[in-house]
Amino acid sequence: MAEKQIIIRSGETVLKGKNRRIFEDKLMSDLSRVLKPYGKTKIEKKHNRMYIPVENDFNVDILDRLKNVFGVDLISVASVVERDLETIQKAALDELKELKRSRSFKTFKVESKRTDKKYPIKSMELSRKVGGYLLHSLDDIEVDVHHPDVTIYLEVKEKAYVFSDRFRGLGGLPRGSNGQAMLLLSGGIDSPVAGWMVAKRGVLLKAVYFHSYPYTSQRAYEKVVELAERLTTYCGPIQLFSINLLSFQQAVAEHCPESEGTILVRRMMTRLAEKLALEYGCDALITGESLGQVASQTIQSIRATNESVTLPVLRPLIAMDKQEIIEISRKIDTYHTSILPFEDCCTVFLPDKPVTKPRTDKIKQSETLLDLDALTEELFNQVEMEWIKEENEPKEDF
Ligand code: ATP
Ligand code: MG
Repeated sequence: MAEKQIIIRSGETVLKGKNRRIFEDKLMSDLSRVLKPYGKTKIEKKHNRMYIPVENDFNVDILDRLKNVFGVDLISVASVVERDLETIQKAALDELKELKRSRSFKTFKVESKRTDKKYPIKSMELSRKVGGYLLHSLDDIEVDVHHPDVTIYLEVKEKAYVFSDRFRGLGGLPRGSNGQAMLLLSGGIDSPVAGWMVAKRGVLLKAVYFHSYPYTSQRAYEKVVELAERLTTYCGPIQLFSINLLSFQQAVAEHCPESEGTILVRRMMTRLAEKLALEYGCDALITGESLGQVASQTIQSIRATNESVTLPVLRPLIAMDKQEIIEISRKIDTYHTSILPFEDCCTVFLPDKPVTKPRTDKIKQSETLLDLDALTEELFNQVEMEWIKEENEPKEDF
């Protein structure tokens, strides 16, 4: 059977100077992770590229999986063929037709490279001959050597490799190349997107979910599990912690001004998340806050929340509009789960008129009305944890 090779190119990883090896190794290991369910994990690394040999009729789902690996910029499927001109031309035409099926374009160029200098046709000449053949074989295309819509690459080694930049990957940095952070994961639209964005920069995720069972339901928890499951496609297995905040919310309702309820709960969430983060080796927290979106996300509220912890709080959505966030949530396939109507713990005991410009000194004053240390300890001792595993992939046809 004819051989194909999937070629992976990675953008920023290449820029990492002396640390490049580390980034490449992380990328290799993440590629192995996503390929494992297909039964074969042979990946070769040569000159800034990864090569994955496959048979001609390989399972194309593999490409979808590779598109979701952080650190992958471009994915090509090379035909590995005999080196005679006619065979190369036919393979180039197949590639161009394959591209035509997936996108519309007008202009192309051919770029050739001979690693084997004994090959009788020089690179420029090879490009010209193959380019001419393509031009005559297809209607409605033109050559543009400066700014082509698509490029057909020919590389002549022991065999000829014929390919194009068939797919764009997600970019970013390889999974696990940039430490770990604790995501505050609610059932909403924002926090899964925030986690995904930070994970895209190579950060491993852990997640914590706060609930108010029995005021919030088991189904609300399952929704969060489903969101975490979606994230595992990109991030690998995720440790999901959950904490019941009810006793704290009740204490706040009993002892503190009603209007400060939301901010007091948010400070507690952040504090508990930091405690977990430190215990489980994370160097930052991540939230889905977006400036001005709701009362607890005014700049003063964010300051008051921030001042409850010392770890950095990463807020990748801070300056984004809801619509932009929704677009990403659709792209990463969390949107439909996020909009399922289950209650959130923040809506339990929601004040009618929350403070929108809380002052930390005043909030701290209210916290003295609570036995904060004892409550924190009590909640922390009841943390539950579940590993969210990756959803399984088909295993045939690799
Ligand atoms: P989301 O859509 O992510 O729920 P939101 O627009 O509902 O966000 P808030 O409820 O103010 O906004 O929450 C802001 C951020 O605080 C969330 O993005 C999330 O990171 C964190 N958060 C809120 N509620 C919870 C919760 N129940 N468990 C864990 N984290 C939470
Ligand atoms: Mg929410």
